[in-house]
Amino acid sequence: MEDCLFCKIVRKEVPVEIVYETENIMIFKDIHPKTPVHLLAIPKKHIQSVIHVEDKDLPLILDIWKGINKVVENFQIKDKGFRIVVNTGKEGKQAVLHLHFHILGGQQLP
Ligand code: 5GP
Ligand code: ZN
Repeated sequence: MEDCLFCKIVRKEVPVEIVYETENIMIFKDIHPKTPVHLLAIPKKHIQSVIHVEDKDLPLILDIWKGINKVVENFQIKDKGFRIVVNTGKEGKQAVLHLHFHILGGQQLP
C-alpha cells in the first residue's frame, strides 16, 4: 500500500531498528517503547488486521510465530515471560492499519 506506514518501513523508506527479518516478515523496535522490550512483528504483505487474514496468509502467520520465538530468546525474555498484543479496529485502538503483533516484556507487566 502506497501510504501505509508499515509498508513504507518494509520498503525501507522509513528507518527502523530491525531485529529480525525474513523474506516474508519483519520484527523491529517500537519507536515509543512502553516496556524495556517493545517490538513489533509484521508480515511484509499488507494485511489490514487479524480479521483480514485469509487462509493463504497462514504461512506468514507461522513465520511471525517463529520470528517471535527467536527474538524473545535473543532479548532474553523467553523464560521470564512476555506479552503479545494485537490491537484490532477502532475500539481496539489499532492506530496503524497494517497487521502487527506487539511483543512486550523486560519487566513485570501489570
Ligand atoms: P497500534 O496502536 O496500531 O497497535 O500500534 C502502532 C505502534 O506503532 C505504536 O506502538 C507506535 O509507537 C508504533 N510506531 C508508530 N510509528 C512508528 C515508526 O515510525 N517507527 C516505529 N519503529 N514504530 C512506530
Ligand atoms: Zn501496509
